[in-house]
Amino acid sequence: MTTLTRTGPKPVPVPSLPSEPDHAAAVDFMHREREFGARNYDPLPVVLSRGEGSWLTDVDGRRYLDLMSAYSAVSFGHAHPKIVAAFTGQAHRLAVTSRAYFNDRLPLLLERLVALTGLDRALPVNTGLEAVETAIKAARKWAHQVKGVPEGRAEIIACRGNFHGRSITITGLSTEAQYRDGFGPYPPGLVTVPFDDPGSLEAAIGPHTAAFLVEPVQGEAGIIVPKDGYLARCAEICRRHRVLLICDEVQTGLGRTGTLFGWQHDGAKPDGVTLGKALGGGLMPVSAFVATEDVMQVFHPGDHGSTFGGNALAAAVALAALDVLEDERLAARSRELGEWLLDELRRLDSPLVKAVRGRGLFIGIEVDPAQATARQVVDRLLIRGILSKDTHGTVIRIAPPLNVPREALVWAVGEIRVALRDVEGEPRRVA
Ligand SMILES: *Cc1c(COP(=O)(O)O)cnc(C)c1O
Repeated sequence: MTTLTRTGPKPVPVPSLPSEPDHAAAVDFMHREREFGARNYDPLPVVLSRGEGSWLTDVDGRRYLDLMSAYSAVSFGHAHPKIVAAFTGQAHRLAVTSRAYFNDRLPLLLERLVALTGLDRALPVNTGLEAVETAIKAARKWAHQVKGVPEGRAEIIACRGNFHGRSITITGLSTEAQYRDGFGPYPPGLVTVPFDDPGSLEAAIGPHTAAFLVEPVQGEAGIIVPKDGYLARCAEICRRHRVLLICDEVQTGLGRTGTLFGWQHDGAKPDGVTLGKALGGGLMPVSAFVATEDVMQVFHPGDHGSTFGGNALAAAVALAALDVLEDERLAARSRELGEWLLDELRRLDSPLVKAVRGRGLFIGIEVDPAQATARQVVDRLLIRGILSKDTHGTVIRIAPPLNVPREALVWAVGEIRVALRDVEGEPRRVA
């Protein structure tokens, strides 16, 4: 195998496409997954077997820089020693007891989440969609019991292009045909308005509106950054109409956008927040809905819950992840590195690039669809030892672990430049 010494911190073997003969192991794994798995994913042709920090290694020993971080689930890097130590230590001590009893880790996590958000109470669940479902249930019950909306009439407003997960209700809020088609019927009371348009939000609010659910930066839609002040305007409108503002921070939260939470960019204060992904420290699913007393008091014992939610192992891991976030000052690091990286990427000067946008280390490179698909660039990056991912066919997602070494990003920018030039010489591929 050829080895190229790159400007990055370590020599990286040059990967080639997995159709080559020395990729027998990788091809076998891919074949089995395609043979026996449901076809609801179409992964890039790389089979990963190790991860350390910002680097991943495939079954053939090739190393890749991770510019995806598992959609921010790995914001603090792969196998962070402090988080792994918390995980293994806690796994030996106590993992799952259900919420039929107290445990000696969860109370510490709840207190920490309340302190971080400045809200009053936290409700732990496991995945992002569960946190969003919890938020929607809380908002509906709040509307019926506190706001005085007639029973069964509460409405939730979300934004076009949103991504909040894949349950039936959340899919019902989606405006993406592929996510919706064939999965209905959907529950009533779900409304969408254009993102980054406070006027449309105000116009859509009616007497039955319970909550406005919004991502501070739309992730899956293609890293769509709203105008400055958007969330502050939304917060003001929601307050005036007695509508809850719920920020879905599952992807933007915990430093990704250069502040601890995305809403802080505008100084807006939500009534409720969903957290997930990075909260699990890159090791396991941990999520939470955190809200004001006014909202959270709607829940009484038995109203809502989750067998694994708030288990001691999850709480210990989340606490360690939050320690890493604070000890390594990763929100500030995301802001500083993100500003620098955005600037570098904007200077790529490729005819394929229509726009580069982002906030913190949450960056999208939009490819001109008349010339190439984002997947063509992503495939080229894979060959060059960089893992990224296209979203919506036209946007390349750049979201490394927040503790990625700066030199690795310097190297990556050079590789992205070469990958774009390679694609410039290719015919446009059908998506
Ligand atoms: C990923 C994501 C979710 C869903 O999280 P899962 O853990 O996949 O259920 C919800 N909201 C946002 C903003 C997300 O990015």
